[in-house]
Amino acid sequence: MNLSTPLTDYPRAKRYLPKLEKLGIRTVRDLLYHLPTRYDDFSRVRPVATLVPGEPCTVRGTVASITARRAWRNQRMVIVDALLSDKTGSVRVIWFNQPYLVNTLKPGTEVSVAGNPSAKTGALLFLNPAYETAAVSPSHTARIIPVYPQTKGLTSRGIRYLVKPLLEETYEDPLPNTIREEAHLPDINEALQSAHFPANGKEAEWARHRFVFEELFIFQLYQNLRRRRFLNLSAHPVPKDDAYLDQFIRALPFGLTASQQQVRKEVERDMEREHPMHRLLQGDVGSGKTVIASLAALLAARAGFQSALMAPTEVLAVQHFKTVMDLFPGFEGSIALLTSSQVRLWYGEGLVREIKRRELAERIADGSIPVVIGTHALIQKYVSFGRLALVVIDEQHRFGVEQRAALLRRSSSGGKSASGEQYRTPHLLSMTATPIPRSLALTIWSDLDVSYLTELPKGRKRILTYVVPPAKRAGAYEFIRKEVREGRQVFVICPRIEKADDAGTDVKTVTEEYETLSKQVFPDLRVALLHGKLKSKEKNGVMKAFAEGETDILVATSVVEVGVDVPNATIMLIEGSEHFGLAQLYQLRGRVGRGEHQSYCLLFTDSSVPSTVKRLELVAKARSGLELAEQDLRLRGPGEFFGTTQTGMPDLAMKAVRNPAIVKQAGFFAAKLLDEDPKLEQYPLLRANIKHLIAEIREA
Ligand code: ADP
Ligand code: MG
Repeated sequence: MNLSTPLTDYPRAKRYLPKLEKLGIRTVRDLLYHLPTRYDDFSRVRPVATLVPGEPCTVRGTVASITARRAWRNQRMVIVDALLSDKTGSVRVIWFNQPYLVNTLKPGTEVSVAGNPSAKTGALLFLNPAYETAAVSPSHTARIIPVYPQTKGLTSRGIRYLVKPLLEETYEDPLPNTIREEAHLPDINEALQSAHFPANGKEAEWARHRFVFEELFIFQLYQNLRRRRFLNLSAHPVPKDDAYLDQFIRALPFGLTASQQQVRKEVERDMEREHPMHRLLQGDVGSGKTVIASLAALLAARAGFQSALMAPTEVLAVQHFKTVMDLFPGFEGSIALLTSSQVRLWYGEGLVREIKRRELAERIADGSIPVVIGTHALIQKYVSFGRLALVVIDEQHRFGVEQRAALLRRSSSGGKSASGEQYRTPHLLSMTATPIPRSLALTIWSDLDVSYLTELPKGRKRILTYVVPPAKRAGAYEFIRKEVREGRQVFVICPRIEKADDAGTDVKTVTEEYETLSKQVFPDLRVALLHGKLKSKEKNGVMKAFAEGETDILVATSVVEVGVDVPNATIMLIEGSEHFGLAQLYQLRGRVGRGEHQSYCLLFTDSSVPSTVKRLELVAKARSGLELAEQDLRLRGPGEFFGTTQTGMPDLAMKAVRNPAIVKQAGFFAAKLLDEDPKLEQYPLLRANIKHLIAEIREA
């Protein structure tokens, strides 16, 4: 047996296969790397007479009596009641819902019982202790016992039963000896033994360290390989031209922020290179990311190349189209808008007209339209760019990995440069308002460069933010009515679309809230409903009506997170705000405060838990999304922080954030190893592990 042996070949695992599958455990490696979350120390063996309440230990004795009966209150519960004796006395032992124990532990059986004796009911008693008979080499008692993340029907006991025999085998170590020695890490067999059945806490800690290192090391190898592959690609170098861009910047109705200036330089420096830019631009809502993207596109156009800007929704694409036209009226090239329902072309000087989809496609293919802005329509088969040098993806997290890659592939530009036939990969600029803490960016996205817009343009008003308890709800509604009367608009955000099946929760749903607000609270106002399950046409319609001031109150799920600009909206009301991540609340809040009027954010919560209220108050105080994200990450850990599948590897992220020193060390060794053996030809096990990691990332 080796680490990659599937568990279908392990007879002991047969009856547990579906359960193991649920935990994502398919191979010997998966099972052995399913490490304990904690340990119970039952290594101390005591005679009955010396038991101390509250002190975990093991007792060895003989079953004196054992019976099973149904619980008096709950007829479905079976109670097994036993008396265990040794030379010094007897102690009562109770197990719930394990009626078969009456047969396994017949009177006279020698047994070890491990647990925490309690004296709550008077006499000393073990409740649901671990137990085992005839233990030459015990797994569940009389030692430090691993406790695993479990699933229904597969307890820690079951996992110990499966793991123990596997530890008898010897496995080949994926970590090269030299690295293990230099980093002072135990060999895999020693580490596995110590991680599952440690002799003491220190040994367990050392083993854990090794596995964290190993995981981060594999991850660093993967990132490093990606980066190296990327550096081998070639791109169209786009030369800098300050004089050209400055003339546009001077004509803007505002000056660039210092942050925008800085990022602009970073982007230009990247685009000058022979290999493709791979940069993520993070900036709070309203920080002016579009200007950066536009300047990059102008520069590419200046050099005779094309740029494609892809946004997740039609409303956003149209908004970008307008923004670019408004901000850069002096641009002499044409700009196209391409979505599934609109095809338009701007010729400069306020001239926009519709154009046939086929005609536009032809002109994109021959390279004569320098800037193309659109939605998913850009990645349709009929679109092919003749001279694509820059791809910009707005709100990048709304697109899948595949969609992002597809846009890069829409470039047909190969062999067009003097240097020969080589295919040129477009430069890539991804943009997001989701704040990604630096510590994470460095580890999780170490294959890309990150720029931050850390300031908002001057003159933006502070958004007054309040945490609103139930008692103040009526008052808040009064306030909303007043604002609407003055012509303002309101967002109401709910955590859910429909009642969850897991029920029992009283989380507000957007449909219910819409009913209540439109029929009872504000029957006189124009209330609209928006959520992700609407057809995209309907969504666009609702959003458009709101943007044009035809509705007063928009009740929505967090789909409005997407950066649509409605300067007249001044109130962001968030129901059940404790159900959102802080970074997400911050982003939602950024939907208001984009116009001249004072704006407000009302964080409704029914929770009176002080820590929850405190957490919400952080949103009121935060100066930037990035700062908040860093706090949020520290408070809740990456799993919660990311919610679902932002990275697909929250577990790894958690380890990375908690162990920055190991990340650094792993990165150092990964780079060194790849310098010596760039394809890892001598390390088939590492190659296999990287493959495994890639599969995991895809799955998530
Ligand atoms: P986001 O980063 O959310 O995508 P946008 O690029 O849409 O932000 O910019 C938001 C608004 O701020 C736009 O109307 C834009 O024209 C304006 N803007 C951008 N940069 C500046 C600046 N330096 N000063 C003032 N307004 C700016
Ligand atoms: Mg934007």
